Amino acid sequence: METAKFETCPKCGCQSMKNIIYVKHGKEPVIYVQCAKCGSFVAGYVLKTYISDKTYETLLEIMHLESCTDSRDFTHKIEAFSKGIEEEYKRALEIAKTGKEKRKAEKIIGENIK
Ligand SMILES: [Zn+2]
Repeated sequence: METAKFETCPKCGCQSMKNIIYVKHGKEPVIYVQCAKCGSFVAGYVLKTYISDKTYETLLEIMHLESCTDSRDFTHKIEAFSKGIEEEYKRALEIAKTGKEKRKAEKIIGENIK
């Protein structure tokens, strides 16, 4: 199965979102999604890996500057921008733009877990 869609506000149907990156020590980061139009809660994602737009070298630089960050296993948690990611992102965008996927995110994600 392969599918993609733009996140949609369950209250007003808007597709403009604000992502809130919430980080608490000792816990997985959480991304809370808020509708940019009506301010409703849309969804929350517990983050396993953060895909950056930065290269691996730039990430190393950033991590070294911020000494409070534990960089031991950061490569597992933060993934550098690569050709593979760029291609997958473009593919996802392409599929989402078709607007063919009408099912709710819960339905799509739920089916992928089965
Ligand atoms: Zn809304």
